[in-house]
Amino acid sequence: MKPESEMSLDPLDWEAFRKHAHKMLDDVITYVQTVENRPVWTPTTEELRKNFQLPLPLKGEGPDKVYDDFVQSVLYHPLGNIHPRFWGWVNGTGSAQGAMAELLIAAVNNNVSTFDQAALYAELQVLDWLKQIMNYPGEASGIFVTGGSVANLVGLAVARTAAADWDVTKKGLQGNQARLCSYGSNQTHFSVEKGLQVLGLGSESFRKINVNEKYQIDVQHLKEAIARDRQEGNRPCCIIGNAGTVNTGALDPLDELAELCTKENLWFHVDGAFGALAALSTELRPLLRGMERSDSLAFDLHKWLYMPYDIGCILVRHPELHQKTFAGGGAYTSAMTRGLSATSTSFRDLGLEQSRSARGLKAWLLLKEHGLDTYCQLIEQNVHQAKYLASLIQQHSELELCAPVSLNIVCFRYLHPSSDEDNHNKLNKELIGLLQESGIAVPSYTILDGRFVIRAAITNHRSRRKDFDLLVNSVIDLGRKLTA
Ligand SMILES: *Cc1c(COP(=O)(O)O)cnc(C)c1O
Repeated sequence: MKPESEMSLDPLDWEAFRKHAHKMLDDVITYVQTVENRPVWTPTTEELRKNFQLPLPLKGEGPDKVYDDFVQSVLYHPLGNIHPRFWGWVNGTGSAQGAMAELLIAAVNNNVSTFDQAALYAELQVLDWLKQIMNYPGEASGIFVTGGSVANLVGLAVARTAAADWDVTKKGLQGNQARLCSYGSNQTHFSVEKGLQVLGLGSESFRKINVNEKYQIDVQHLKEAIARDRQEGNRPCCIIGNAGTVNTGALDPLDELAELCTKENLWFHVDGAFGALAALSTELRPLLRGMERSDSLAFDLHKWLYMPYDIGCILVRHPELHQKTFAGGGAYTSAMTRGLSATSTSFRDLGLEQSRSARGLKAWLLLKEHGLDTYCQLIEQNVHQAKYLASLIQQHSELELCAPVSLNIVCFRYLHPSSDEDNHNKLNKELIGLLQESGIAVPSYTILDGRFVIRAAITNHRSRRKDFDLLVNSVIDLGRKLTA
């Protein structure tokens, strides 16, 4: 091959690329700036989906055509979670500054498995800050992962290493060992059961404990379940405490759970996917008392810190057990005294991935840009908005508040005086579908004690009180129309 025929993916004309890139940047800045003027969500059409059923692109179409395609087919058919009136499931909103952080990180394209590079030290710095926020010891280990699901999996994997009285990292679960059991309320997120499933412990080894009227774990029932397992020869392994359940935002009595774990010699894992971030606020921190005593703590920065997807974090109080659970490598990764490999930190040994993006670097950029005080105020603002929404609901006789508002989640439904439970459920299902299709607002739904309810989870820095006024008025309008 002649040298002049060698190729790369670099633009042939950097000036043209620069111009095109600037246009893309301008377009998306306007896009984010004007999000409120568009419907929250619109259903995709058959015609739109056809744009994603085309033959393999053997020959490149060039930057202009594909960008046009992106604008036509993708940009205006989003999930809608950056909109001020999106409160479905628990979704983050991202930010314009977050998008810029992603751009910077993508350009440098660090692979932060290990190696002597600034991004590694930036991640360690942010982990250090997060330990301070969560009141965790400085020597605890931690890693940024894709999200709460993987963070839970990592925490449970270390719990398994700690609980087994054989070397489970070497021997696995191939013998006739005692069954390892874990405990959490019946409101626990499904990712915990999935984690246990993947770890070979089986989802049935998760004991679902009843909750009280505030949807908090019933500690008496929990104690009985542990005693029963011990009696039957099973091996209790781990209690999972919820710092904000996905259904209602309920907070388990974490201090009591920490106490019980100490007494019973069990691992204490806290799923604080969104709720753990309330630790930023002196007003809200008392709700989380005991969280700092956990052995592992999972939370998401793409939910209640409004950072772009994806970034979750797991902190582990016992670095040696964390390392033991995930350490791996070959001759090609062995330690060196100089060169790139001369660093003592290896994220490769703390999680599943070898190659991994510099997720923590976006947190470094954004935390420094806005400052913790800003995040604290936004989190408190969302909690106050949840209380405001609850008060609007309580002012209307046609609406029923269906669960206590502990944090930032509000569950409610539309009631028709002459209707029974079955019809209430049908009516509210119909109502939520129509509301989402209207493009006015996107709350989601859940089922609480057999009641189908509308559910707003507020992890949105763009929401304003007027948005909740509009939500309540729209639900009442739709409810009246449906029952007319
Ligand atoms: C969102 C959530 C998870 C899962 O986190 P992902 O980031 O979606 O993987 C786990 N637990 C709770 C309570 C959550 O809200």
